[in-house]
Amino acid sequence: MDIVNSWDKSLSFIEDKVGDSIFELWFKPIKAGSLKDDILTLEIPNRFYKEWIEDNYPEIIPEAIKRTTDKDVTIKFKLAERQDKEIKKIQRKLDSRRQKLANKGIYLNPKYIFDSFVVGPSNQFAHAAALAVSESVGKRYNPLFIYGGVGLGKTHLINSIGNVIVDDRPEYNIIYVSAEQFTNEVVSAIRHDRMGEFKDRYRNTDLFLLDDVQFIAGKERTQDEFFHTFNALYEKQKQIVISSDRPPKEISAITDRLKSRFAMGLIADIQPPDVEMKVAILQKKAESEKINLDDEVSYFLATRIKSNIRELEGCLIKLAAHSTLTGSIIDLDMAKNVLREFLHDDDRPITVEQIQKAVCEFYGIRMQDIKARKRTKEIAIPRQVAMYISKKLTDLSLNDIGKAFGGKDHATVIYACKQTDEKINKDESFNRIVDNLMGRLKP
Ligand code: ADP
Ligand code: MG
Repeated sequence: MDIVNSWDKSLSFIEDKVGDSIFELWFKPIKAGSLKDDILTLEIPNRFYKEWIEDNYPEIIPEAIKRTTDKDVTIKFKLAERQDKEIKKIQRKLDSRRQKLANKGIYLNPKYIFDSFVVGPSNQFAHAAALAVSESVGKRYNPLFIYGGVGLGKTHLINSIGNVIVDDRPEYNIIYVSAEQFTNEVVSAIRHDRMGEFKDRYRNTDLFLLDDVQFIAGKERTQDEFFHTFNALYEKQKQIVISSDRPPKEISAITDRLKSRFAMGLIADIQPPDVEMKVAILQKKAESEKINLDDEVSYFLATRIKSNIRELEGCLIKLAAHSTLTGSIIDLDMAKNVLREFLHDDDRPITVEQIQKAVCEFYGIRMQDIKARKRTKEIAIPRQVAMYISKKLTDLSLNDIGKAFGGKDHATVIYACKQTDEKINKDESFNRIVDNLMGRLKP
């Protein structure tokens, strides 16, 4: 197989999926190295690429290779730059911990530990509760229910509990799953007639961490299974920790008996961080990554990015990658320039184009498709969502919105809004997606 040629093909597949601007910065600079024993070595300009790709598109490269060459490969990144010794050491430690966890079949993120979690007024209570649970598993707050908006640290906190227990109680069975994965496992257990195995696995755990529970709204069979799992664990005083993007009573389409279970222990919320805390988080992250970040830029980022900490970190990584790539230092001008499309002025209205772009990036489709006539589900739903959001977040008329979508008429826009509204009311996870997209767009 000609590796360079295949890599070029894989790159065009990726370009289609992620869109121009992401492709230009994050994927285009990657060069094919070698392919040996199904390990594909890729050369990246600096370490931020590895972190960014693993955080944002962990599957996309193997998928692209599979599509273009029909081969299953494992990716290894090789750095074009010489690496700082200390950073290398930390990286190696993380990798070996990740391996150790994977060998045990526990899919915790080794990066998410209490030590790297910045505590402030908005998350103090949730942090204290999580810490207490990690110190007395099953005995104090059971279940612990943590809720808060997207990117505010729920996954980080519940992983931190798991990471403490892996070390302190090596004999414990730990399960960390997203509710989405839990749902998939229920479906698969039913289909393959493996309910017995499923029950054995989930009911013999000492610590059960369930992330994003709002996802099981409307899924009755999954709720049933979760209910029985919950009861079995609770009776044996096994620890249950649940996260959600909203409080139990606001999760519609979830049975009352589950809601009342959620409220049996402790409910803790995480609020959006204030500016000082955002600055503290940025500086901690910059310090651990050895990125030079001055106060001016920290405050600029902290005031311009409203609440999502994942985005805050994403901007920092983007600046660092850019700085290493071009050899320029991170100052205010550079930050403004690099993050131009990402940060919108408070007084500048949102454009349909920005909305289309965000929606396309989210669904992994191309801008040209959203404006075309294609009616396949993969395109039609994102298009309707983008029209719906355009109606909500811009002052444009229905006609103008239609025009911006490749010359559709206003009836199409009305229909799209109606369809989306209905789906939002019926489907909790869809509701979350639209919410999340609007949150990203709103200044
Ligand atoms: P959520 O699960 O609530 O959507 P995450 O736990 O995935 O959010 O957090 C998003 C990102 O922000 C992660 O990289 C996480 O490490 C970081 N983060 C969130 N809160 C904090 C905090 N208080 N201190 C340090 N990093 C944080
Ligand atoms: Mg999360």
